Amino acid sequence: MPAPLLHIETTPALPKEADVVVIGGGIVGTFAAYYLARRGLKVALLEKGRIGAEQSSRNWGWCRQQNRDARELPMATKSLALWEDFGRDSGEDTGFSRCGLLYLSNDDMELAGWARWGEFARGVGVTTHMLDQKQASEFGSASGRSWKGGVFSPTDGTADPSRAAPAVARAVMALGGSVHQMCAARGLETKGGRVSAVVTEAGTIRTRTVVMAGGAWASSFCRQFGIRFPQASIRASILSVAPGAKGLPAALHTAAVSATRRGDGGYTLAISGRARIDPTLQQFRFARHFVPMFAKRWRSLAPGGLEGMKSGHETLSRWRLDRPTPMEHNRILDPRPDRKQIELTLERARALLPALAQTPVSAAWAGYIDSTPDGVPAIGEFSALPGLILAAGFSGHGFGIGPGAGHLVADLVTGAKPIVDPKPYHPHRLNGSAWGEVAEF
Ligand SMILES: Cc1cc2nc3c(=O)[nH]c(=O)nc-3n(C[C@H](O)[C@H](O)[C@H](O)COP(=O)(O)OP(=O)(O)OC[C@H]3O[C@@H](n4cnc5c(N)ncnc54)[C@H](O)[C@@H]3O)c2cc1C
Repeated sequence: MPAPLLHIETTPALPKEADVVVIGGGIVGTFAAYYLARRGLKVALLEKGRIGAEQSSRNWGWCRQQNRDARELPMATKSLALWEDFGRDSGEDTGFSRCGLLYLSNDDMELAGWARWGEFARGVGVTTHMLDQKQASEFGSASGRSWKGGVFSPTDGTADPSRAAPAVARAVMALGGSVHQMCAARGLETKGGRVSAVVTEAGTIRTRTVVMAGGAWASSFCRQFGIRFPQASIRASILSVAPGAKGLPAALHTAAVSATRRGDGGYTLAISGRARIDPTLQQFRFARHFVPMFAKRWRSLAPGGLEGMKSGHETLSRWRLDRPTPMEHNRILDPRPDRKQIELTLERARALLPALAQTPVSAAWAGYIDSTPDGVPAIGEFSALPGLILAAGFSGHGFGIGPGAGHLVADLVTGAKPIVDPKPYHPHRLNGSAWGEVAEF
C-alpha cells in the first residue's frame, strides 16, 4: 500500500498548442512547469497517472545540503530557499520547514567523513555543526543511548511528499498553465530536425520545446528518438507509522535506520541506501556504466525479482504513436515492498527509538529510484534533438532539489541566467565514461 497522496482536479481539455510541454508530473516536472508559467509562458504539464504518484510521493521528504556531492550542493542550497519562496508566493502548503537534520554515529570512519564534508561545506557558506559525544547523546536522547558523535544541519529541512507535487501543480494552474492527469505522452514529432509537437494519448500539442521529466521512464522515452540516456532504477522499500510517538527528532539518520516526521504527525522509517535491483533489459544495456556505482554500494544492494521487466519502465522496445504504450499499461509504478526489509526496518526503528513501540504501521510501500551512472541528475538539451530538454536521473536526491532543478530547466528554456552552473548536470557528460566520481547517497 503506497503512502496517501493529495488528490487534485486537473484541466479537462488538452490545448492545441503550447510554448512548452512538460512530460512528467513529479516534483521536477511540476516545479519546471511552475517556473515556466511564472515567466508568462503557456505551459502544458502531462502526467500519465496522478500528479506525484511515483517517486515524488514515496520518499522520506528530506531536503538537504548535508553530505551532498560538491556538484549538487549549489542546487541544494538554492532549493531550500525556493521551497520557502514557493510557499509564500503561491499560498500553497508543501509542508516544508527547516526543521534541521540530525545524523548520529558510533563509527569513527563515518564521523571522520562527515567532519571532512563539514570543512568543505562551511567553506562554501553552508551551516553544519559537528556534535561531540556529549552533544550527540543530548540530541539523540530519544534513543536512550550515548553516541560517539554526529552532525546537526539546522538550515536543512523536510517537505511533505504526500502533498508537495500536487500543491505545485495546483499553483501551475493558478498561473494559467494546464495540467493533464491520466494523459501519457507517447512521443514527439519533429520538423527540420527540431521538436514540433508532442503526441499524447488524448491528441497532439504543437510546441517547439519539450521537457522530459519522466523519472524512471525517461531513458526508454528518449530511446524512441535514438537518444542514449544511461539510467537504471533500484527498488527501495519504506514504511510509515501512525502519529503518537513523542519527543523524537523531526529527521534522524543513523546507519541502522532513519526516521522522519510526516505531515500527519506519524513517522516514515527506512534503511538508508538499502534497495533491490530488479533486472531489466535496459540495465543490461547500460550495465558497464553502472559498475562503479554498484561496486561502491554493493553492501546495500541485493538482487530482486522479475517485476522490473513486467512493469515496462525500462523496456527496450519501440512503440507506435497510434496505440497504447507501456506508459498507459502502467499508469503508476507501484512496485512491491520487500517484506523482510520492512520487518527489519520496523524492528531496528523500535530498538533505536522506544517511543515507536506503540505506534502501529500505517503503510508500507516501495519506489523505483532512477539513477545516472555518477549519481548526479541529467539536466539539459540534447544537441541531437533541439527542443528536447531532459531533467531526470535524480539518483535518490530529486525531491529536495526539485525546486532548483525546475528553476534551472526554466532558465535553460528562456535563456535566463541559470540559477546554478548547468555544466555538471548536462546529459552529454554521460556519452563517454569521463563523468567523474560516483556521488555518495
Ligand atoms: C524510498 C525513496 C526515498 C527517497 N528519499 C528522498 C529524500 O528524502 N530526499 C530526496 O531529495 N529524494 C528522495 N528520493 C528521491 C526522490 O523521490 C526522487 O529523486 C524524485 O522524486 C524524482 O522526481 P521526478 O519528478 O524526477 O520523478 P517522479 O516523481 O518519478 O515523476 C515522474 C513522473 O513522470 C510520469 N511520466 C513518465 N513518463 C511519462 C510520459 N511519457 N507521459 C506522462 N507522464 C509520464 C510518471 O508517471 C511520474 O509521475 C527518494 C526516493 C525513494 C523511492
